[in-house]
Amino acid sequence: MANFMNKYDAIIGLEIHAELKTKTKMFCGSPNDPNENHPNINVCPVCMGHPGTLPVPNKEAIKKTVMAGLALNCKIAEFSKFDRKNYFYPDLPKGYQISQYDLPFCENGSLEINGREIGITRIHLEEDTGKLLHDPSTGSGQAYSLVDYNRAGVPLMELVTEPDLKSADDVYKFAKELRLILRYLGVSDADMEKGQMRVEVNISLKPEGSSEFGTKVEVKNINSINAAARSVEYEIKRQSELLNKGEKIVQETRGWDETKQETFSQRIKETSADYRYFPEPDIPPITLSKDQIEEIQLGLPELPKQRRERFKEQYEIKDEQAEIFTTSKHLGDYYEKVASELDASAKIEHLKSGTKDENGPPGEDHLPAKLHTLSANYMITEFPPLMSAVDNEIDDLEGFKIEPEAFAELMVMIFHKKLSSTAAKTVLKEMAETGLHPEHVAKEMNLLQVSDEGELLLAIEEVINNNKNAVEDYKKGKKESIKFLVGQVMAKTSGKANPQVVSKLLEEELNND
Ligand code: ADP
Ligand code: MG
Repeated sequence: MANFMNKYDAIIGLEIHAELKTKTKMFCGSPNDPNENHPNINVCPVCMGHPGTLPVPNKEAIKKTVMAGLALNCKIAEFSKFDRKNYFYPDLPKGYQISQYDLPFCENGSLEINGREIGITRIHLEEDTGKLLHDPSTGSGQAYSLVDYNRAGVPLMELVTEPDLKSADDVYKFAKELRLILRYLGVSDADMEKGQMRVEVNISLKPEGSSEFGTKVEVKNINSINAAARSVEYEIKRQSELLNKGEKIVQETRGWDETKQETFSQRIKETSADYRYFPEPDIPPITLSKDQIEEIQLGLPELPKQRRERFKEQYEIKDEQAEIFTTSKHLGDYYEKVASELDASAKIEHLKSGTKDENGPPGEDHLPAKLHTLSANYMITEFPPLMSAVDNEIDDLEGFKIEPEAFAELMVMIFHKKLSSTAAKTVLKEMAETGLHPEHVAKEMNLLQVSDEGELLLAIEEVINNNKNAVEDYKKGKKESIKFLVGQVMAKTSGKANPQVVSKLLEEELNND
C-alpha cells in the first residue's frame, strides 16, 4: 500500500473565560474575593439560588466587559439582555446559569497577532459556577465530593474568536496578548493557574488549500498558555494521523492531561438546544447610551500595543526592549522614571555645554537617546540576577532598593566614564543591597575611575622610567608596545585609570621626549 502522507491546514478558534475583578459577585452583594481561604464563606441567598430572591446586575462588571470589548475593537451593543442557560450540575445552585445568548455586550472585534487580525466573534457576560472538590483521601474510588460555592456567581466574561488561528504559535501569542490587555485594563488578573482565565481550544484539520472546514474537537482543562499551545500541537498530530488512516474525526470534547501531555476523550458535545435558552425574566434588558459607551472609551488606559510604539519612539530603544518593558509593566514603569531623570540631566548638560537643542535629532550627539539605550541595556541584563537574589520575579519590584533616580545617576557616571564597566556592576550590586547612591558607593569602595590628568601623569612618568625597553621599542616604531605601557599604568592605579585618557597622555609624553 502506498504510504502517502497528506498535508493539512489547522483551523482553530478559541473560547476564553476570564473572571472579572469586582468587589462583589455578578448578581448579588457577596464578595468576589480571589483570596478567600475557607469554603462557602462568600455566599448569600441570591448566589445560592434560594426561591424568592432576585438578581441585580453588577454595573462594574458590565463596565469592565465593555472596556474589554472596546480595547478589542468590538461593536458595543446599545441594547442587550441576559438569558438563562439551563443545565443541571451540583456546582450550579439555581439549576441554570445567567448568561447571554443572542445579544451579547460586544461583537465583531479583532486582535492583531503574528501580523494578522484575528476576528473576535463576541464577548458576553455570565456568572461562574461553584467548585466541586473530590475527596482526595478516597482516591479515584471517591466516596463523596464536596462543593464550594464561593466562586458561584462571580462575574465571568466569555470571549469567542472566529476560526482565524492557524497554529500553536498563534494560540500562544493570542492568549498572551489578551491576558496582557485584560491586566492593563484592570479587568481581570487573568492568572490561568488560579483558574481566573480559562482557554478552550477548538481545532479541526482540512486538506491543505481546501476551503471546507473539517470536524472540530474542543479541548478543555488547559491550565496554562503553554499547555494551550501544546494541546494544539498534540491535536494536529493526532487528527492528521487519523485522517491519514482514512478514519473520521468525532466531534467531541477532550480534556488536556498535563502529566501525559495528551488530550483524552471526555464527552460528546452538547448543542445549544440542550440548554433551552430563554430571556432571563428577572432582569430587564440593559441599555447603554452612545455617551456612556464613549465615556468608557475615553477612560481606557494605554494599551500594550500603544505602549510598545510609544516606547520605541520616545526612548529610541529596540523592539525587544520595548517588548520587555510592555510585558513586564512594573519594570517598564521603572524605566520611564529613569528615562525622565536622564532627560532632565541631559538637558542640564546641554545647557552647560552651550548646545541649544537638547531634543535635537538622533545621532552621535543625541545624548538622551544614548543614555536611554544604555540604561535599557543595563536594566535588562543586570536586573534579573539582582531580583532573583531577593527571590523576586523580574517584574516584581516590591522591596527593590535601587531608586530610579539613583540608577539614573549611575548611568550618567558610566556614560562619563567615571566608572569602568566592571566597577559599575560592583556598584550596582552594592546599591541593590544597601539602597545607597552610586557616588557614595563608588567613593566608599574606591572604584571611581581616575581621569584627572595630573594624577595620571605621575603614574605615567613612573612607568616610563621603569620600562626603558618598551619605551625604546615604541620610539623605534613598534607602536603596539604602547599597549603594554597602558597596561602598566592600569596596574599601577589598580585598574582605576581611565584607559582612553592614559593612552592619550602616554602618546603625548612619548612623542614629546
Ligand atoms: P459550537 O456551536 O460547537 O459551540 P461555535 O460555532 O459556537 O461552535 O464555535 C465555537 C468555537 O469554535 C469558536 O471559537 C469558533 O471559531 C470555533 N470553530 C467553529 N468551527 C470550527 C472548525 N471547523 N474548526 C475549528 N474551530 C472552529
Ligand atoms: Mg458555541
